[in-house]
Amino acid sequence: MSDPVDDARLGTRLVQAGRRAEWTGPVVNVPVWRSSTHLYADCADLARGRPNADGHFYYGRRGSPTHWALCDALSGLEPGAAGTLLYPSGLAAISGALLGLLNAGDVLLMSDNAYEPSRTLADKLLRPLGIETRWFDPLDLAAYEAAFCPRTKVVLLESPGSLTMEVCDVPALAAIARAHGAWSVLDNTWAGPTGFAALAHGVDASVLALTKHVGGHSDLMLGSVTASATVHDRLRERAQILGQVVSPDDAALALRGLRTMGLRLDRTTASALAIAEWLAGRSEVAQVLCPMLPGATGHDLWRRDFTGGCGLFSFVLRGRDVAARTRLIDALRLFGIGFSWGGYESLAIPLDPQRIRTASAWPKPGWDAADRLGVRLAIGLEDPADLIADLAQAFAVMDRA
Ligand SMILES: *Cc1c(COP(=O)(O)O)cnc(C)c1O
Repeated sequence: MSDPVDDARLGTRLVQAGRRAEWTGPVVNVPVWRSSTHLYADCADLARGRPNADGHFYYGRRGSPTHWALCDALSGLEPGAAGTLLYPSGLAAISGALLGLLNAGDVLLMSDNAYEPSRTLADKLLRPLGIETRWFDPLDLAAYEAAFCPRTKVVLLESPGSLTMEVCDVPALAAIARAHGAWSVLDNTWAGPTGFAALAHGVDASVLALTKHVGGHSDLMLGSVTASATVHDRLRERAQILGQVVSPDDAALALRGLRTMGLRLDRTTASALAIAEWLAGRSEVAQVLCPMLPGATGHDLWRRDFTGGCGLFSFVLRGRDVAARTRLIDALRLFGIGFSWGGYESLAIPLDPQRIRTASAWPKPGWDAADRLGVRLAIGLEDPADLIADLAQAFAVMDRA
């Protein structure tokens, strides 16, 4: 008989995920297990211990029911997953995946639109360890395929790309990696498992910054990697060797965030789309980089592969200078200025990808060279009409000088 939870639709699965009766006991939520030490009844009990087994409390560093419930929930949301590992931040999850899969002498291919700290990790840690990184334009499949060599072991993808929001043909990129004997790791933070089924689209490991949508309230730093069996076993062993463990309080916050994630994503996606449509009609705006917006670059791939969006997107000003962009951002009253995103509050930051890109052009081919200063918006749970009014008054301030 099929399990009614496995067959359920998304909202139901987000409510049920990870709440196994053996972990919750008689209460709704899995309790927070604050514990380092497991006490054994006697030496015979100690001898029967299974120190390396999951789902068996042995020592705090190997996790507790609170951690297992979050891992179980995240694995359950990802078709094809063998398991999930937790890391103290999204960046630690990326480094955990790369250090888990790569050895000295290997080559890593990294998408040119990857999250900036991933690039720093490649330059400042992987290179000194003897792991070479080559960057590629994720929209140029021929150049990407040509970049493989017999030493290429891992490909790091991100879709949509950080800041610039290129939607990549992940199934094609992952299939090419597989054909060359390389694993593909996707930073799936933007869509999350409910918006993009990463493993089902061919990648071997899906990284999430749980800090963003899963936490949802700007009060948590946490990351995860959900992977197929071979990759999971390997990552798990290296995570244990490295002593990776997260606080059970943080795991409980992430579980709490999951329960409302579907509602929050529906709301921020709808608001972001309304704001993106409004921006597309403004004379101050040259490009709206929002995959959910019909007609925008990447929209067709997004419709083909994704089952959801989120509140994060960017736009490019038409011909304004840095001073004008600064006036715009400083004039916003409802948008905070800050990194991160996925919280309940809206944020804006300037974006200048040309600073870090090495394998792809910015401004993009075909754009007017004067249209290059961007702004990234993270749309929160405010009323979108208020956010639009705030942007309208800030555009007026921008051009008043
Ligand atoms: C924020 C972010 C990360 C890193 O997550 P932290 O929890 O801040 O370390 C990784 N990838 C993407 C795409 C992000 O936006």
